[in-house]
Amino acid sequence: MRRGWWTPGVLAGLAAVAGTLGSAPAGAQGAAPLAVTAIRSWSAPTNTRVVFDFSAPVDAVLPDSGSARRVVVTVAAPGIVLASDVLPAIAVGDTAVDSVYTELDANGARFTLVLSPGTAFKAFTLQPADDQPFRIVVDVSRAEARAAEERRLAQIAAEKRRDRVRLVYVDPGHGGDDTGARGPRGVLEKNVTLAVAQDLVDELNHTHGIRAMLTRTGDYFVPLRQRYKLAEQSKADLFISIHCNSSHRRGHGSGTEVYFLSLQGASDQADRDLADIENAADLVGGVPPQAEDDVVSVLYNVKRNAALEHSQLLAEQLLDHIAADRRVESRGIKQASFAVLKSVEFPSVLVETAFINNLREALLLRDPTFQRNLGRQLASGVVAYFTASGVKLGAAADAP
Ligand SMILES: [Zn+2]
Repeated sequence: MRRGWWTPGVLAGLAAVAGTLGSAPAGAQGAAPLAVTAIRSWSAPTNTRVVFDFSAPVDAVLPDSGSARRVVVTVAAPGIVLASDVLPAIAVGDTAVDSVYTELDANGARFTLVLSPGTAFKAFTLQPADDQPFRIVVDVSRAEARAAEERRLAQIAAEKRRDRVRLVYVDPGHGGDDTGARGPRGVLEKNVTLAVAQDLVDELNHTHGIRAMLTRTGDYFVPLRQRYKLAEQSKADLFISIHCNSSHRRGHGSGTEVYFLSLQGASDQADRDLADIENAADLVGGVPPQAEDDVVSVLYNVKRNAALEHSQLLAEQLLDHIAADRRVESRGIKQASFAVLKSVEFPSVLVETAFINNLREALLLRDPTFQRNLGRQLASGVVAYFTASGVKLGAAADAP
C-alpha cells in the first residue's frame, strides 16, 4: 500500500489547496522532467517517517536536526514537477506529523512538514539503492513514546523473570519503505514475513514456559541494529529473523535455508550475495550512515562463541522441523554475515522461508494456512532447541 494513510474525505478538502500547483504531464515520454515521484509516510510506535522520492538526485537544503512545529526542506531544481499522482497537500494525521505541503516555483520545490508538539526531527538524503530512487527522509520521533517504549521493554524483562519464562524475539524482515523481495501477483516479502512471524509468536505464546514478542508489529521500517537491541533490552533468550529468498537477484532457486552468523563472511559467493542483499535493508529502508561500534574484549569473545554454538543448534532444530513439510525442500544450514544476527547476548538465526519469486513457492508463502503451518513448525523447532540445550521450560531461568 503506497499512500494508504489518508482518508478520501480529508483529501477532498486538501485537494482544493492544490489547484494552482503544477503536475507532470501524464505519459510524458523521452526527456521526462525532473519530478517528485512520491510522497509517503509510515507510522511506527515511536516515530513517523516521511519520504520524498525523486526521479533523479537533487540538491536539497535540509534543516539541522531539532524540534520545530514547521520543518521546511527546499530543493534547488528549476523545472521540477510533481508526478501526476502525487498530491501537493497530504494529511498524515498521526501523533507526530499533522500534514505535508509542497510548493513549486521557478527555482525548485519547497516541502513544509507540520509537526505535533513534543517531537524531534532528523532529515537526511538517501542515494538510489536496489530498486529505490533518490530520497529525502524526514524522521519525526516522539520523546514521550520513546520513554514509554523503554519502560515497556524493562517491563517485559521483569515479567520474564517473575513468570520464569524463556523469551523469544521474532523479527519480521523488512517493513515500511523497505519492501524486501517482490514476488509474482504482488506478493511482497515484508508482508509475508510479518504474517509468518505473527503466527510463530501466537504459537509460542500458547507454549508452556515460553513468551514471544515481535520486533515490529506493523508496516514500518526498523533499522537492523535496533531489531536485536530491542531483544537485548528485553533480556531475550532467542532471536529468529524471518525472510523470503529471491532468485531474481541470485540465480534460480527454491527451498528453505536457515542461517547463523559467520564471523569470516560466507564461504560461498551466493550466500555472500544474499547477506549483502539482506544487509542492504538499512540502505533501502533508510538509516543515515554511522560508525559501527564493535566492542572487542575477552568477555565479548566468550559470549560470542557461546551464542554462535547455540545458534547452530537452533538453526538445526528449526530446519529439521520445517523440513517435515515436503512441499518446500531443505537447502540446509548455512553461515553468512547478516547484520541482524550480530548480538552476542543470545543465539540468533535467520530463516529464508522459501523463494518468493518462484511462483509455486510465492503462492504457498501468501497462503494463510501455509503461514500458520510454518509458524507451528518453527515453534516446534524452538521447543526442540530448548530441550536439546538442557532447558526445562517453566523452571526458573538462569539469572541474567
Ligand atoms: Zn529479506
